[in-house]
Amino acid sequence: MPRVLLLPGDGIGPEVVAEARAVLEAAAPDLSYVEAKIGGCAIDDEGAPLSDETVALAKDCGVVLLGAVGGPRWDALPPDRRPERGLLRMRKELGLYANLRPATVIAALSDASPLRPEAVEGVDLLVIRELTGGIYYGEPRGRQDSDGVRRAVNTMVYDEHEVARIARVAFESARRRRKKLTNVHKANVLEVTAFWNEIVEEVAPDYPDVTLEHQLVDSMAMVLLRDARDFDVVLCPNMFGDILSDEAAMITGSLGMLPSASIGDSGRGLFEPVHGSAPDIAGSDAANPLATILSAAMLLEHGLDRADAAEQIRKAVTRVVDEGYRTADLARAGETAIGCREMGLRVREAL
Ligand code: NAD
Repeated sequence: MPRVLLLPGDGIGPEVVAEARAVLEAAAPDLSYVEAKIGGCAIDDEGAPLSDETVALAKDCGVVLLGAVGGPRWDALPPDRRPERGLLRMRKELGLYANLRPATVIAALSDASPLRPEAVEGVDLLVIRELTGGIYYGEPRGRQDSDGVRRAVNTMVYDEHEVARIARVAFESARRRRKKLTNVHKANVLEVTAFWNEIVEEVAPDYPDVTLEHQLVDSMAMVLLRDARDFDVVLCPNMFGDILSDEAAMITGSLGMLPSASIGDSGRGLFEPVHGSAPDIAGSDAANPLATILSAAMLLEHGLDRADAAEQIRKAVTRVVDEGYRTADLARAGETAIGCREMGLRVREAL
């Protein structure tokens, strides 16, 4: 029986994870659960943002559903003891090298976008960002002052194995979707991304059913705003993906609706909403649980290979929103907002 590790974390984390768990129980009744602490609550109770025992549990379970970490209570701690260290350690310990960030516009929420509704209706794309390599980790790095001249350096470096494994995640994802993959690069000036493209092209023949195109990162930043609907799966090196996944998220305009997944080899994955712990509304039943519920759907699809159950959850979410149910973050002036618990209940009913 597959076991899911639940890490509710801080702030609204426990509220949204409770609703996501209840939806998972309805959509996939054979799963079992174990719960542990991460972030600020783990600092308070266990002396560190992520204990060795919780890491061992995560490795044993393979799939982890996380709420959020952090809050003003722990803001004054030194950087190496802060709640988000727990998250970073978890990603590293599980070897999570692929970050998946869908940006989907539900028609009934298209007016939440800063872009015109007719420009964003029907947007349904998935940004796949390489997470453990590239310029954020390459050596040499840091200050290199010499002869009285101040200087600093970072290095963008990838080897063929790092590129091939993320390319396979992207092709596999495209295969399950609309079978189009857009590879983002800057090969006109960066040799490392020309090499990246070369490896992506070498992997492509294994996926003849997927159409591959290449797009320069600067032009991608523009066409994403103009023609977001044209994209299906978008593959990016670490830094480009960091930037473009936030741009894609803004197209949807709804922080409370954005799920994410970080996955590694052998079915390991961490699934979490993009938003933080929202301390301003924690404990008031005002949080939108849909980002976490959609993260649970990603857990089923990418962590446990149950695309059908995942699709049922996504359809249930769309139906509830289409029927007009809104948490406070989605409600427009004059619309009545429902609470976190009721939103979870509505999704379970729609299932
Ligand atoms: P935030 O995402 O927590 O909140 C930003 C705004 O969006 C707030 O007004 C909040 O009320 C609202 N919001 C966020 N999620 C919501 C939801 N599900 N439903 C309704 N409204 C929602 O970002 P922040 O305020 O910058 O950070 C708060 C804390 O969260 C900080 O301690 C930060 O470090 C932490 N954080 C954690 C993560 C994570 O765990 N992955 C990510 C971002 C921020």
